[in-house]
Amino acid sequence: MIREKKNPKKNSEVQKIIELSKEKIDDCMQCGKCSAGCPANAGMDILPHQVIRFLQIGDVKKLRESKSIWNCAACFTCESRCPRDVSVSKLMEAVRQTVVRKQGEDRLTPEVVSKLMRDRDMPQQAVVSGFRKYSK
Ligand code: SF4
Ligand code: SF4
Repeated sequence: MIREKKNPKKNSEVQKIIELSKEKIDDCMQCGKCSAGCPANAGMDILPHQVIRFLQIGDVKKLRESKSIWNCAACFTCESRCPRDVSVSKLMEAVRQTVVRKQGEDRLTPEVVSKLMRDRDMPQQAVVSGFRKYSK
């Protein structure tokens, strides 16, 4: 059964991260197993379980400004240790994505993409990946 709890702190920024990651942040019980096993935790100013807590209280700004999102190695150790099946890794990636998208808002439009696709020297994977990063 899918549990859906109401959370007044789920502002639009948190909703966007949930939409991108497909994770259920309310399932996290703050046990800290993800942080304890994270191989990159020494370089993080906000530990993995705290990342979820900030999302639960609706403070995405703190996460966007933290170095933790860039120090996460996307190794999925946190996900494999979580007793509630929550992936901090996917949430970190979603926060990173929102930062990158803000930086390059109008850099890659559908018109530019169609031009790039005609360039034989441009790997298609790079275009698709860039479009995913720089489009909303
Ligand atoms: S291991 Fe899972 S339940 Fe525990 S704090 Fe981390 S995300 Fe939350
Ligand atoms: S995916 Fe990131 S947060 Fe999770 S254990 Fe690996 S480095 Fe730590």
